[in-house]
Amino acid sequence: MLSSYKLYRKPFHPDHFCPIQSLHDLEKVLSQETREEHYILADDSKLTVSFEYFLKYHDPDFCFSLGFAENSGQLFYELENQRIISEEKGLHIHDGLVLGNLISFHRKKTGELIRLLDKKDYHGVKGIVCPMKVGKTKALFLDRDGVINIDKGYVYRPADLEFNPGIFDFLLHAQKLNFELHVLTNQSGVARGLYREEDVKKLHFMMNEEFKKAGVLIKTWSYCLFHDEALLHHYKLKSILRKPKAGMLLSLCQSYAFDFDQSLMIGDKLSDVLEFRGLRTVLLQGEYPLHSSPVKVCKSLEELSLIL
Ligand SMILES: [Mg+2]
Repeated sequence: MLSSYKLYRKPFHPDHFCPIQSLHDLEKVLSQETREEHYILADDSKLTVSFEYFLKYHDPDFCFSLGFAENSGQLFYELENQRIISEEKGLHIHDGLVLGNLISFHRKKTGELIRLLDKKDYHGVKGIVCPMKVGKTKALFLDRDGVINIDKGYVYRPADLEFNPGIFDFLLHAQKLNFELHVLTNQSGVARGLYREEDVKKLHFMMNEEFKKAGVLIKTWSYCLFHDEALLHHYKLKSILRKPKAGMLLSLCQSYAFDFDQSLMIGDKLSDVLEFRGLRTVLLQGEYPLHSSPVKVCKSLEELSLIL
């Protein structure tokens, strides 16, 4: 069974949804030539067609590749003009995650990607499904303000940058344990008109230089500039990039194959607990209330380093 997926971000189109009740239906859809892409929604537990049969005996004239993945909680976002409008859709979508299995194949003639999910739950839904690319990279995903540096509220001036005491030792220790380091930070100060993206980039460059001098290699710096109550229209967006949504992490999954069982997210706010099934999070107690935290809270980086 094929289990590798690339991250797929193209929105569904309702016209591409087709009811599949039998192998005949499936073949009929496959034989259509008019659409560029198909998204077929089906549920193997309810169908008369056996996907196992189909995977084994598919007509090689139809498709050159077939894939099946037992769904482990791929993210699903319903979109309208790239904005999230709902995260609850039927039996097979809970909390923004698709719980049904995914089956995909490329038609031989055009190389189209076809996915099979449950028609009744997805009828008319436009959205994106993001299957996770997984691999062997053990990663530490780090919030920035309050974890790497002291959170003074919208830090963007170099003069306001103050590294968290112990962060260098902590990250050196993490590197020794083979964690790859990735920063994921919400920077809504840009949406709020307080500073510019250029300021974020400059500060990250500066921080990165300091880390390099100390032998700490931060692999990537991801940031989300959007906010749904932004002052600046350009950034007024309920973005899937903004934590606790997992968009920044999903974007990284395009280039990196993480082992999520071995990886860890570290933040200092409840919103750092990403909506990403299977990723463990530990929060560092800072100035934000964490008494209702659903995940472990550590009082210091020293305490945190003991549980890596
Ligand atoms: Mg923070």
